[in-house]
Amino acid sequence: MANHRALWMRGRRFESARDYLVVGKISKPKLAVDLDETVVYLLRHFLDFYNAEHSTGFSEEHFFSYNWWEVLGISKERAYAEAAEYIKDKMKMYESPEFFDGRFHIEFVEGVEPALDLLCRFYDLHALSDRSPMLEPDTFNISSWLCAEDCEGGTYFPELPFPEDHEPLLLPMDKIVLTQETGLTKSQFCRQAGILTAIDDNPDVAQDYAKNGIHAIVLAKPWNRYVSKHPLITRVKDWQEACNILVPGKIKLPKAEKSVYI
Ligand SMILES: [Mg+2]
Repeated sequence: MANHRALWMRGRRFESARDYLVVGKISKPKLAVDLDETVVYLLRHFLDFYNAEHSTGFSEEHFFSYNWWEVLGISKERAYAEAAEYIKDKMKMYESPEFFDGRFHIEFVEGVEPALDLLCRFYDLHALSDRSPMLEPDTFNISSWLCAEDCEGGTYFPELPFPEDHEPLLLPMDKIVLTQETGLTKSQFCRQAGILTAIDDNPDVAQDYAKNGIHAIVLAKPWNRYVSKHPLITRVKDWQEACNILVPGKIKLPKAEKSVYI
């Protein structure tokens, strides 16, 4: 059973999220958060690039699998080469004057900013990503735009105390782990780090998490429609549903404006 449930059951029952947080000196469980397609959109931007290069018409809806090569009908090696080309092109943006003029090339998944703001009150958040280390400037950019203090009024949840041990950046760079740099799978990393719950979109990753005793919360996407049935896999339609599972009291996420920085 996921750690957050165990904590919730231990000792006493809290009637509200505020009581829980005020009582607070309970160490928070850790939560792993995937980046691509979970926090930011990547695939749709890769497809814009790929379609323009190859005069094709792929969209996310075509993705019955997150193994790009299976959908694009090319070899795995070719798919990696295409992805590398896309990354090189994307990285050019970070050298462009538009970037330094304050235009940001990030599209956040709907609701992720308030969701992470809420979740950081209850969990020690760690981003865990299979993305290429070549995307480092982009990864840094994501980190620097995910702030609990970005919205009017200080935070999305001014009624909830902000944890003393937490800095305003919701996913600071030192809390972002790139599995390609560790040589570990996501589940191996979680087991080593004592992480019992993870949010991801990749059905293969979710299955591996579940097999290793980690509760996988899967954000609904076309490629995970048929994710394995398993007691430790929960598919949710959006960040609100994920928070309903992870945080007591079904706290409603504020309607955040769609954050598109392209
Ligand atoms: Mg992902």
